[in-house]
Amino acid sequence: MTDQPCPYCMIVQGQLPTNKIYEDSNFIAALEIRPANPGHVILFPKEHFKSILDMPANLAEEFLGLSARIAKSISKVSEGVTIIHSSGEATSNVLEHLVTNIIPRFSGDNLTFAWNPKQIDEEQMKKLAESISGAIESPEEKTPEVKEIQDEEGPSYEELEKQLPQRNS
Ligand SMILES: [Zn+2]
Repeated sequence: MTDQPCPYCMIVQGQLPTNKIYEDSNFIAALEIRPANPGHVILFPKEHFKSILDMPANLAEEFLGLSARIAKSISKVSEGVTIIHSSGEATSNVLEHLVTNIIPRFSGDNLTFAWNPKQIDEEQMKKLAESISGAIESPEEKTPEVKEIQDEEGPSYEELEKQLPQRNS
């Protein structure tokens, strides 16, 4: 850690007061002190991870799953939810401790999360889809068995029908 104490680590250590709404062995969720809207929740790991990219895959999945669960609870008292967090050097995330913002939305709340759409040609889109898709890692523990789609000839429809129990009627 740097010389400056991390405010989120201080919350974890009980050195900063906060309005907690959720806590488990890995994460804390609390009301943001300077909310974008009333009910704005921040969710962060107890361990000082700088970004989701530094987290073990299992923990990152837990983190995002929990974000979704909290978003659902917020949606009960709002008209929508925006979930934001950024990771990596090129982002505006200047905080040293990974935080997800879960913001309740109300019609006419005038919040903007805007960007100017970029023009990307079809060829480049294809390449992007391929390279990102090829880099998706499987979960560490419960690796799903992905079946390869093959053009094999299976049993004919008639053969399958013979195996079905005969109807009496
Ligand atoms: Zn920290």
